[in-house]
Amino acid sequence: MLGKDVRVRFAPSPTGSLHVGNARTALINWLFARHHGGEMLLRMDDTDEERSTKEFEKGIFEDLEWLGIDWDDFARQSARLDRYDAAMERLRADGRLYPCYETQEELDLKRKIQLGQGKPPVYDRAALNLSPEEQAALVQEGRTPHWRFKLLDEPVAWDDLGRGHVRFEPGHLSDPVLVREDGRPLYTLSSVVDDGEMFVSHVMRGEDHVANTAVQVQLFQALRYEVPTFAHMPLMVGADGKALSKRIGSLGLKELRERGVEPLAIAAYLAHLGTSRAADGGETMIDLARHFDIAGYGRAGPRYDSDELETLNAKVVHHMPFHIVSAKLKAAGLEGADEAFWEAVRGNIARVWDAGYWWRVCSGTIDPVIEAEDADFIRQAADALPDGPWDAETWAAWTGALKQATGRKGKQLFMPLRKALTGKQRGPELADLLPLIGRDRVLERLKT
Ligand code: GLU
Repeated sequence: MLGKDVRVRFAPSPTGSLHVGNARTALINWLFARHHGGEMLLRMDDTDEERSTKEFEKGIFEDLEWLGIDWDDFARQSARLDRYDAAMERLRADGRLYPCYETQEELDLKRKIQLGQGKPPVYDRAALNLSPEEQAALVQEGRTPHWRFKLLDEPVAWDDLGRGHVRFEPGHLSDPVLVREDGRPLYTLSSVVDDGEMFVSHVMRGEDHVANTAVQVQLFQALRYEVPTFAHMPLMVGADGKALSKRIGSLGLKELRERGVEPLAIAAYLAHLGTSRAADGGETMIDLARHFDIAGYGRAGPRYDSDELETLNAKVVHHMPFHIVSAKLKAAGLEGADEAFWEAVRGNIARVWDAGYWWRVCSGTIDPVIEAEDADFIRQAADALPDGPWDAETWAAWTGALKQATGRKGKQLFMPLRKALTGKQRGPELADLLPLIGRDRVLERLKT
C-alpha cells in the first residue's frame, strides 16, 4: 500500500497542442490514479499570458477526452494569482525571497565568465550583499527587481519512483527566480503552491524536471506544505536515439487522430513503452489501469517507434467490439454497417476507415477484376450460384459444386472469385462476405 491517498495532477501549459510526450505524462498520471483508486487533477499552467490561449486549452481538453483520460478536479493557475501572492509574502517574511536587480545581459555575462573559469553557472547571490542604500539607488535608476528564492546550503535528496534515490549537493543549484519584474509568479512557485494546497500526493512528470524538483523540495518545505512523492519518467527518444523533436508534426495527437490511429492504440502503446511487457491490442483503458505498475518502467529513455504504433493500431482495430466502433462507422458515413459486417471485416483492416472499402464491396459498387483467362470459369460460377436465402454455408456449397464441375481447386478456384467479388486479391473471408454482398450484387459482378 502507498500509505496515503493518491491524488495526482497533469499540468499542461496551454501554449501548444498535446504531443505524444505530454500525452504519455498525462496517461501515466491517470493510470496511476485509477490503479490506486485515487484522484486526477487537471491543471492549466496558464500564467504565461503572452503564450497561453483558450484555443490551446480547448484543444487539450479535446485531446484528453479523445484519449480516454478523464479528471476529477480542475484548476487554472490564472485564477489563483492571489494564492501565489500570499505565498510570496510568507517567503518574504521568512527572509527566503530576495530582490535582484541584474539585467538579463548582466546575468548572461556572469554565466559566461563562470563557464570560462570552468565553474558551474550558479547565481552568485550578489544581490544578497546589496545594502539598503544600494538597492534604493538601483530603484532610483529605474530598475525593478525580480525575486529569487534563497536555497538552504544543504543537500536535497528524495526517493524517486522513477529514478531511485536522487541527491543534489548544495552549491550546484542557483537560487531560482520565483517572481518576475512585473510581479508575476513563475512556474517554480505556482506549481509548488498548487501541489501543496491541492494536496497532490505524487508528482509524476518527465525527467527534464529533476533539477526543478531539487529546488521545489526546498520550496515545499519553506512554505510548510507536505512534500509529495516524485516520479520522473525518462523521456522518449526518436528512432535515432536522440530527443523526440516536436517539429515532427505527426507526433501531435491531432495528427495521429487524423491518420486514423485509435486512441486506445496510443494509450496501450505509451502505457507499455519502456516496460518489459507488450500490449496485445485487446486491452481496455480499465485493463491498462489495473495492470499499471510504475516500478515496471526502465531507467533508459524508451524509443518511440511509429511503425510499432501502427502495428498495434491494427491489432486494436482487430479486437474492437461493434458497440465501440459503431459510432465511428456512422461518423465515417457507413450508415447501416451492422455487427455482421464489422465482424466480417475487422480482422483485415489496419484502420477503422479501411472498412469503407469493404462497405462498398458489401452494399455499393466496386470494379470487379476478371482476368481474360478466367472468363469461362466466372461464367460457370455465375450459373452455379445457389439460390437464396444465403448464409454462412453458401460459400462452401457454391465452391464445392464448382470444384466438382471444373476440377479447379485451391487458389485457382478462389482467387478469380475473390477478385471478381471484391476487386482485391486479399481481404476478409469470402464465406462471411458472400451473404453480406447478396445474390444480386454477386451476379452483377460475375458478368463477363
Ligand atoms: N506546466 C509544466 C510543464 O508543462 C508542468 C510541469 C509539472 O508537471 O510540474 O512542463
